[in-house]
Amino acid sequence: MAVVIDGKEAAASVIAAVTAATASLERETGVKPGLAVVIVGNDPASHAYVSSKSKMAKQCGFNSIQHSFAEETTQEELEELVAGLNADPAIHGILVQLPLPKHLKAEPVILSISPEKDVDGLHVVNAGKIATGDLETGLISCTPAGAMLLVNRIHGRDLSGLNAVVIGRSNLFGKPMGLLLLAANATVTMAHSRTKDLASVCRNADILVAAVGRPQMVKADWVKPGATVIDVGINRVPAPDKGEGKSRLVGDVSYVDAAEIAGAITPVPGGVGPMTIAMLMANTVIAAYRAAGKTAPRF
Ligand code: NAP
Repeated sequence: MAVVIDGKEAAASVIAAVTAATASLERETGVKPGLAVVIVGNDPASHAYVSSKSKMAKQCGFNSIQHSFAEETTQEELEELVAGLNADPAIHGILVQLPLPKHLKAEPVILSISPEKDVDGLHVVNAGKIATGDLETGLISCTPAGAMLLVNRIHGRDLSGLNAVVIGRSNLFGKPMGLLLLAANATVTMAHSRTKDLASVCRNADILVAAVGRPQMVKADWVKPGATVIDVGINRVPAPDKGEGKSRLVGDVSYVDAAEIAGAITPVPGGVGPMTIAMLMANTVIAAYRAAGKTAPRF
């Protein structure tokens, strides 16, 4: 049976390190990291995410500010708010919760965030830094940064000689994850919906990362014996066994069977999921250190 990679425990250790780094920054410079979380509209899932981010920010000792806007907010109003936050020296991180309501365009909003405060790591400057191999001066997208930390727990920071396959090529996850694995010296294959014979591509992976959004698509016989499997998918599926109308979360990997073949595997929930918020906090404290002219901690 595979080692179960405990994302909750890894996230808790990142949060402990962020909390310690926050206290020492404040002690040395008087600077308290400030995180502004912006939400537009009434989507309950987005509100739940935002409130857990704000709660975690407070737990880390940050100055946590939430801006909640009505559904009918205009593009101009939203970008005006971001401009104000960019100019506010007490704010080191700005996060605009996605998805935005349909009448708003996310891309210009993301591009309006100052790259130094783009703690989600989605600005083209931060994406470009990863693409050019600069992992030191930008901010790395939170979910791939968290998934990498879990990979590092199993294999260390140098992945020389290992084959990695990432299924999914989104800007949010797949592309930056592939680039982070490459920067760590893995030999990387990026697979997607047009990949031919995906199962045999996956069987070549020492590190298999699935970020597709299709429940339990990756079967046990796609997994190379002893491989590390990182399941990024979060899919809600019906669970009639729990009662009528009930549901449960599953990943993109058929977990129970894959765990018999893999060397290490992340569960869903409790794997990559908790790492995303933890890395958001890490990015905020990194941004605050840089703004204070101090060398940022590494997580
Ligand atoms: P996305 O933008 O929808 O991208 C999905 C990717 O999967 C695309 O590149 C797509 O290929 C590929 N794909 C779709 N069907 C496929 C198939 N049959 N075979 C191979 N590849 C296929 O999704 P995302 O934002 O990257 O998210 C992926 C999953 O991760 C979702 O379940 C999401 O909820 C989860 N997620 C979790 C976290 C977290 O905090 N844990 C964060 C982000 C995302 P094409 O490009 O060819 O269409």
